[in-house]
Amino acid sequence: MESASAVSLFTMPGMMKLFDAHLDMALNALDHERDQTLSVSALREREAGGVVDGRGIATVSVDELKQGGCGVVLSTVIARSKPWVKATRENIHDFNWPDPSMAYGVAMGQLAYYRLLQTRGQLRILESAGSLKRHLAEWGSSPGTTPVGLVLTMEGADPIVEPEQLRDWHAVGLRTLMLAHFGKSHYAHGTPAPESRQGEAHDTDGPLTDRGRALLPIMHELGMPLDLTHTADQSFAEAADLFEGRIYSSHTACRAIAAMPRNHTDAQLKQIIERDGVIGLPLFNHFLNAAYEEDSPKEMVTYAYVADHIDHICQLAGSAKHVGIGSDADGGFGKEHMPAELDTHRDIVKLAEVLSQRGYSDDDIVAVMRGNWINFFSETLP
Ligand SMILES: [Zn+2]
Repeated sequence: MESASAVSLFTMPGMMKLFDAHLDMALNALDHERDQTLSVSALREREAGGVVDGRGIATVSVDELKQGGCGVVLSTVIARSKPWVKATRENIHDFNWPDPSMAYGVAMGQLAYYRLLQTRGQLRILESAGSLKRHLAEWGSSPGTTPVGLVLTMEGADPIVEPEQLRDWHAVGLRTLMLAHFGKSHYAHGTPAPESRQGEAHDTDGPLTDRGRALLPIMHELGMPLDLTHTADQSFAEAADLFEGRIYSSHTACRAIAAMPRNHTDAQLKQIIERDGVIGLPLFNHFLNAAYEEDSPKEMVTYAYVADHIDHICQLAGSAKHVGIGSDADGGFGKEHMPAELDTHRDIVKLAEVLSQRGYSDDDIVAVMRGNWINFFSETLP
């Protein structure tokens, strides 16, 4: 039976199974005191106090990624600048720095952390298509001793203090970015926050700023693809129209299935597909099923929901070439708000079994779990 071989491929130890297009590893280390070199069980033991605001039950570490065969990730530097948000006792941990210079300093600190883990052989920052290719070959031959590959991304462009400074960021390894995170940035309008913790009006849709319009041609000149996740509808339309380079979306689900502004409309998904981009599905229950709420049981969302979103994008595309995973695991939530089948990050590959049961071919399953992202970044990295 052909389905058996795809599933066994993803249960074999010591091979690259997954490319995860969205993690916040440095934020977890530096904001949530999570040593990314520990095992997930050690992190959980240290956090025996349980879930605190913005930090759920841990699912990710370098060790966990290696054990689970996740050989490449996009991981963020993230720091917002929102001078219009007042610093109160309640939101002091919401990383809304009053000036971009501070967001710059924080994000550079996050990069310093990745670089230190690189010198210790834990991570490998992949800056070119050639280094990605060599990295994949090494994972194929000696997965046990190969570091986890990391393509550096920025979630919200506020750490770039002025558009021209993008050149400096590119020189230190930044390869892609999102213009905004939740709410408005200095570059674009971002999708509204799930709850109104950002101190902004709930509906934040609006156009790009002048800085955003100035940044796009520099991105294109540097050959950086644009990640349209978190970009509010009006800004999405304007950015997709103005930007001449490759577009994709690292961690966004389908609005047709889970109706909320944070998810992409069919028209947006089609725009990304038509320009040969990839959409990564986040494994956050609320984005997969709009009825899921803060106090819902995690079992309410299963991998069948993830497969529904994957199916939807494949239907729009007419193939399985434009969808992947961008889990966002530990991105402000943990295992308690991720699908029923997931305890730690290594359980993401169990999705292969669900896709197999739905009749996806071996090739298509491999494409969704890693191949589409590998192709996209092989084509877009310098
Ligand atoms: Zn995000």
